[in-house]
Amino acid sequence: MMNGQNSSAQSTKTMRFGGGEEAERNLGQSIKRGMRCTCPKCGEGKLFRAFLKPVDNCAVCGEDFTPQRADDLPPYLVIVIVGHVALAGFMLTDLKWQVSMWTHLAVWVPVTIIMSLLMIQPIKGGVIGLQWAVKMHGFGGKDDSVDDGRGGPVD
Ligand SMILES: [Zn+2]
Repeated sequence: MMNGQNSSAQSTKTMRFGGGEEAERNLGQSIKRGMRCTCPKCGEGKLFRAFLKPVDNCAVCGEDFTPQRADDLPPYLVIVIVGHVALAGFMLTDLKWQVSMWTHLAVWVPVTIIMSLLMIQPIKGGVIGLQWAVKMHGFGGKDDSVDDGRGGPVD
């Protein structure tokens, strides 16, 4: 009796429409690997050759990272997060302890700078992981250039 019920559950298939010729890339895993500053594809090779300079190719799996266009999204995200933490921290501590503005500056300026420096590299890695996972900018193996004549991608 139990065997009959199990066999029907195994026949479920996922059907996908459009562009299914290449394997799916796990978005969450790619972002996590990028945030650990490792290659979003294999999770082993280093993603950065300098503080914010990504490698051209993964040393382990050879994935090409020259199509990445993280541009100003990482600093934008850092500003959103650090701005909320620093502003909320300043306002909450100002309510609780009556200290001078110089004391606040001495605390919150270094907190802002240190948090930003600590966060910018993993966030840039996460953005590259996101772009890789959704095959933006040539990560899917196709040219990202735009046809000037019609404004769409070149086929
Ligand atoms: Zn790799």
